[in-house]
Amino acid sequence: MVRIVLDAGHGGKDPGAVANGLKEKDLTLSIVKHIGRLLSEYEGVEVHYTRTDDRFLELSERAAIANKLNADYFISVHINAGGGTGFESYIYNGNVSSATIAYQNVIHEEIMKAIGDVRDRGKKRANYAVLRETKMPAILTENLFIDNPNDAAKLKSEQFLLQVAYGHVIGLEKAFGLKKKTKPQPQQKTSTGKLYRVQVGAFSDRKNAEKLAEELKKKGYPVYIVG
Ligand SMILES: [Zn+2]
Repeated sequence: MVRIVLDAGHGGKDPGAVANGLKEKDLTLSIVKHIGRLLSEYEGVEVHYTRTDDRFLELSERAAIANKLNADYFISVHINAGGGTGFESYIYNGNVSSATIAYQNVIHEEIMKAIGDVRDRGKKRANYAVLRETKMPAILTENLFIDNPNDAAKLKSEQFLLQVAYGHVIGLEKAFGLKKKTKPQPQQKTSTGKLYRVQVGAFSDRKNAEKLAEELKKKGYPVYIVG
């Protein structure tokens, strides 16, 4: 059993960064909920949240929740600000396990793959409280810049937030060797002879659609790109 704590940055009286009609605390909660929902499709994963609604928690409380649960991994999701663009991830800049570094490598890479045309600002290290105070391997992701108009336009799309979450989840799948609960069924006729189609996503960028299609094909789904 892999126990993962998902930490939506900020909340309640602390909105985090605010710009372009967006609040960091809302975006982080939305991404974290997508991650949790996607993770529920895997076996042997136990998901916990530091918050599932709009409430304030001290940084130390967030770390304490993960420590008390004796979690295997801690992910803190944030949105960047301060004049820049792109994605970056952080681990603690003190002593960390080799697993911490390995997990950052794979999760960072999968997020970059999932979010398409976004600048890779690199894998970084910093003395952040949630990274320092958590006893298990931990990562903090900074998912685009809320105060950059182009980044903000992406962050306004729920589909983009889902792609961000998907990147986190595929990273976790690879880092922890997670397996899906059930094998996907190939197209199946119902007793009435009808075929039902399931659409998985809508993308403004065909490259992103093709990327998701490739992932799904690898998993055995029949895939058609429409549009
Ligand atoms: Zn933040």
